[in-house]
Amino acid sequence: MKDTKVKNLLAAEKKRQKSVINLVASENYVSDDVLKALGTETTNKYAEGYPGARYYGGNEVIDKIENLAIDRALKLFKLNPKKWGVNVQPHSGSPANIAVYQALVPQGGKIMGMSLAHGGHLTHGHGVSFSGKFWQQVPYGVSEKNEKIDYDELLKIAKKEKPDIVVTGYSAYPRKINFKKMREVADAAGAYLMVDMAHISGLIAGGQHPSPFTYADIVTTTTHKVLRGPRGGMIFARQDYGVGKKAPKTKKGKSVPTLFDQIQKSVFPGMQGGPHMNQIAALAVALKEADSASFKKYTEQVIKNTKTLSGELKKRGWRITSGGTDSHVFLMDVWKEGLTGKEASERLEKEGIIVNMNTIPYDTRSPFNPSGLRLGTAAETTRGKKEKDMIALAERIDKILRK
Ligand SMILES: *Cc1c(COP(=O)(O)O)cnc(C)c1O
Repeated sequence: MKDTKVKNLLAAEKKRQKSVINLVASENYVSDDVLKALGTETTNKYAEGYPGARYYGGNEVIDKIENLAIDRALKLFKLNPKKWGVNVQPHSGSPANIAVYQALVPQGGKIMGMSLAHGGHLTHGHGVSFSGKFWQQVPYGVSEKNEKIDYDELLKIAKKEKPDIVVTGYSAYPRKINFKKMREVADAAGAYLMVDMAHISGLIAGGQHPSPFTYADIVTTTTHKVLRGPRGGMIFARQDYGVGKKAPKTKKGKSVPTLFDQIQKSVFPGMQGGPHMNQIAALAVALKEADSASFKKYTEQVIKNTKTLSGELKKRGWRITSGGTDSHVFLMDVWKEGLTGKEASERLEKEGIIVNMNTIPYDTRSPFNPSGLRLGTAAETTRGKKEKDMIALAERIDKILRK
């Protein structure tokens, strides 16, 4: 690389990543093949539109790449292409979610989503996000009693508020989600059910968490978390009108767009221009990698590592919210031991352990200096860490925080 300034910065970041222990729950390390695909000439190409229907010439190879990503995405999640379509063009998870609302929720309509403070994502209707400015959030949280989702409570909220869409799938919720119950919640309001599996799509692909596709109308995901692909997003949508919904009546001869058709239009031309084809090429690589026995083993190890790390911290007196985890992530209440989330994360960072501060359910502190830490093991498991390493790590974290 001729640009030495950038070259040095890239080298410095590579070195930084190698030198730290990374417990950021939303991060991972992609394979060399994924990295290689990202740095290719596909980044030069404009490909507005979809395979076979582009607004630019010269897309014969690009079409094959996008179709490959589509086929692999459907195969990985065991979907019948007659029943489900997938859009692999969203630039990331947030635009994927916005594209869904744009397609399915009328302006000013209601999005029922978990509040950010309880583990939801900004794009589930939070006021600082587009999703909360153009639509109205019907917030829900976890139960104060056990910090888990109380599905009966959600049913009550849905019946009362009649949201247009119900969103499940979270950024900081360590437990498995009961998608059947979430379907009942959506049905109680006649709403669509959107599953945002950004954090857990890798765990679902690896068979560690149940598949949401039986119950969901729409499934969105990022591609760079446990799934271990390049940064990006995908939207899966039914090739019909939603679970249990009939085709809307129209004047004779007019076909009604299915959910998938509506999503396609919403992504392009609705909110994006050209897709990032280098990202999509890298995604195709990652999807094949995820469709393997070794990836399944990886996800098993992620769960083992998270359970070990959280269990060992618990043994050393740290409160883990909801009492534990069934996934790649857990929340630790440090305020109970007299530390703020910010202090705790800064102390760990000084010792080369990267985490993020996070609110815990019913937090009494501000999100800028909350009571908790969010820890995840997806990245370190990619680097080959096992249970014994987690025990040693828990010991180190405990020592640093109690110093
Ligand atoms: C990470 C995440 C997103 C958004 O992803 P970006 O790629 O950062 O825009 C959306 N939903 C959930 C639940 C997430 O955890």
